[in-house]
Amino acid sequence: MKNNTIEHITCLIIGSGPAGYTAAIYAARADLKPVMYTGMVPGGQLTQTTEVENYPGYAHGITGPEMMEEFRKQAERLGTDIRYGYVSGVDFSSLPHKVVVDDIKTILADTVIISTGASAKWLGLESEQKYNGFGVSACAVCDGFFFRGQDVAIVGAGDTAAEEATYLAKLCNKVYMLVRRDEFRASKAMIHRVMHTHNIEVIYNTETREIVGDGQVVTGVKIFNNKTNEEKILDITGFFVAIGHHPNTELFKGWIDMNETGYIITKYGSTHTNIDGVFACGDAQDHIYRQAVTAAGTGCMAAIDAERYLSSLESSLKVIPPVTGLESLLK
Ligand code: NDP
Repeated sequence: MKNNTIEHITCLIIGSGPAGYTAAIYAARADLKPVMYTGMVPGGQLTQTTEVENYPGYAHGITGPEMMEEFRKQAERLGTDIRYGYVSGVDFSSLPHKVVVDDIKTILADTVIISTGASAKWLGLESEQKYNGFGVSACAVCDGFFFRGQDVAIVGAGDTAAEEATYLAKLCNKVYMLVRRDEFRASKAMIHRVMHTHNIEVIYNTETREIVGDGQVVTGVKIFNNKTNEEKILDITGFFVAIGHHPNTELFKGWIDMNETGYIITKYGSTHTNIDGVFACGDAQDHIYRQAVTAAGTGCMAAIDAERYLSSLESSLKVIPPVTGLESLLK
């Protein structure tokens, strides 16, 4: 496809969750004139949740979409150029970095902040989609509170599922843990914790067939035992999916160092990646905390790191070279 236009900017932010917007707020105030490309889901994962009660500053809670709208307005008011668009290619081989948007536009950026987030893996059931936000959730820490004193189920057998099951057990009356094989994937320590929590019942060799509801909210889950072929319905009001996340970092493979599951590796205590002038924040580089507030914190760090990086170039009289070879981009 043809590249139609080329634009040179100081700071490009890719992705528009709490990390990206916070990076934008700080970068705009540092006069980096940030340009943000939102990606296909402006606002990111939080736009798919309902109530957010654990983000400081919202005393009465706020819905995820409303909160992201507030973040967007703040970033825009401070001078961020927010654009709807999808980054389709990058070339980090020389400065300025080259980023292609929607296959047609080339951005030359002195600094790039990656805040593309992560996506929860889902089972892929129609009923799971139907009740998403109405009893179905992929985040116990975000939504567990709404099921206080109730019976819930969680699917998954890794460390996340084990951790979230024990978290839910503190709030809920009963937690059914649905494990598809006859063993866990989680670490021994986490399994030990699950096994010693009195109100968690682990159900092995069990697959989820359907989330059952009354048309509005979840009322149960149909499960299938793959050893006995028995099918039954558990009465629950909350269904949590904890079968892993995948970071949205595919685009940067081959350029940016990542761990084996695709999370970007940043230098300890910073947001620097292995490429000068490219920074990563939020869930794209964090598989441990994955909270809006921690994502926002690292977004702030990324903007400060970008600003300091540019200042260090200036003070060492290293300047980003004039752009050459644009002809090839225009072909
Ligand atoms: P994992 O990939 O480790 O585990 C995913 C789990 O979901 C597996 O048990 C898998 O089953 C199950 N699963 C996948 N698809 C389905 C399905 N369709 N139906 C039912 N079950 C399914 O993901 P996690 O998010 O748990 O962990 C990711 C990484 O983060 C790991 O390295 C983990 O150790 C780490 N982590 C560390 C924590 C900590 O140190 N405190 C906390 C949380 C995560 P199966 O086993 O059969 O494949």
